[in-house]
Amino acid sequence: MKVAINGTGIAGSTLAYWLYRYGHEPVLIEQAAGPRSGGYIVDFWGHGYDVATMMGIVPRLRESGYRVKEVRFVGSDGRRRGGFSTDVITRTLNSGFVSLRRSDLASAIYATIDGKVETIFGDSITTIDDDAHGLHIGFGHHASRRFDLVVGADGLHSRVRELRFGREEQFEFYLGYKVAAFELLGYRRRDELTYVSYAEPGRQISRFSMRDDRTLFLFVYRDPNPGHGIPATNAGRKAALRDAFGNVGWECPRILKAMEGAGEIYFDRVSQIRMNNWTKGRTVLIGDAAACVSLLAGEGSGLAMTEAYVLAGEFACARDNALAGLEHYQMRLMPLLQDKQKAASRFASSFVPKTGFGIALRNCLSSLMVLPPVADLLLGRQLQDDFSLPAYAVR
Ligand SMILES: Cc1cc2nc3c(=O)[nH]c(=O)nc-3n(C[C@H](O)[C@H](O)[C@H](O)COP(=O)(O)OP(=O)(O)OC[C@H]3O[C@@H](n4cnc5c(N)ncnc54)[C@H](O)[C@@H]3O)c2cc1C
Repeated sequence: MKVAINGTGIAGSTLAYWLYRYGHEPVLIEQAAGPRSGGYIVDFWGHGYDVATMMGIVPRLRESGYRVKEVRFVGSDGRRRGGFSTDVITRTLNSGFVSLRRSDLASAIYATIDGKVETIFGDSITTIDDDAHGLHIGFGHHASRRFDLVVGADGLHSRVRELRFGREEQFEFYLGYKVAAFELLGYRRRDELTYVSYAEPGRQISRFSMRDDRTLFLFVYRDPNPGHGIPATNAGRKAALRDAFGNVGWECPRILKAMEGAGEIYFDRVSQIRMNNWTKGRTVLIGDAAACVSLLAGEGSGLAMTEAYVLAGEFACARDNALAGLEHYQMRLMPLLQDKQKAASRFASSFVPKTGFGIALRNCLSSLMVLPPVADLLLGRQLQDDFSLPAYAVR
């Protein structure tokens, strides 16, 4: 089967890997001019980690990633007010865990298919037409082509979803925050393998020291207005961050000043995508395009890989009946994704507390996580689930 996959992110490349292994002919289409670099850091664990193990990429992920030791909440004087050792996470998970750049995860996955799977960079699917012979797919710049199946793996703001299922507003559930991330070279100070975070009511700024003297900064702030646009340019994004964080203490004035020299700034709404159906005829959605859980779940990349693995496996099991494969994929995964979304939205109200009291309470509770029952209460339900990764026979 010829399968067009829009988006060479986490989900798209994982799907291409497994479809290729099952003997199909995936073609990846990516709007960026080449593999994307930089971006934010993701914690990678759970079923996605198991899929990565099967793909043989874990050694590379460990090499490019970090074994974060501590999450530290600080006050305006920089002194520790709360936080926890990540031992509590690895103990609860009882499995692998690594933190790495999202782009390094995507590159490691893409390396497994580079040279084997056709990839069209710098383009996007722009039209999808069904007929008796399959799908006629149009691109922005390349000539249209025929495929048997089309997959939207193009993230939160999926173009394939919009083309086949309707406008984003119908499916986007805004969680009340805006998020921004960027990297700086040579920022002082550094705290190795420690995620340092400072909060004031409704606003939080965090930094993580990386290799090669780089530091990643993550800004999250409450904004009740989802329509309050996401600036299209880097200059607009910097201005929005100056507006939102201009009077925040701690190292914030220094970080905002240093931000002026930053390269690409990631900026978006913190939202989920909630749908009752991920398939329409021969079109199917995976990853954030289908069921974005948001950064609050801390597992979106692992879930995106899980969805790709299951979709390819169900597709292979269904043999000639591709549509049945798509249906089984959705039946197997929808309950898991819905549970993850519910857990993340429950957590949303306390992610960046609204008041000084809320921040103090969060700091205090986080310090109690050295006690296993408290850790189980606060993290256990978020980290564990009832889903088992199915085993599929690969040639
Ligand atoms: C700040 C932040 C922190 C996060 N932290 C974590 C974490 O700790 N742990 C975790 O597991 N997850 C985390 N996530 C979530 C995780 O990044 C996503 O769930 C994951 O990247 C989803 O993978 P995906 O392949 O579906 O989408 P993406 O990784 O977004 O990939 C989509 C791809 O499609 C391409 N694309 C987009 N539009 C088009 C188009 N029209 N045509 C062609 N190509 C297109 C994009 O360029 C991109 O390459 C975080 C997210 C954010 C924003």
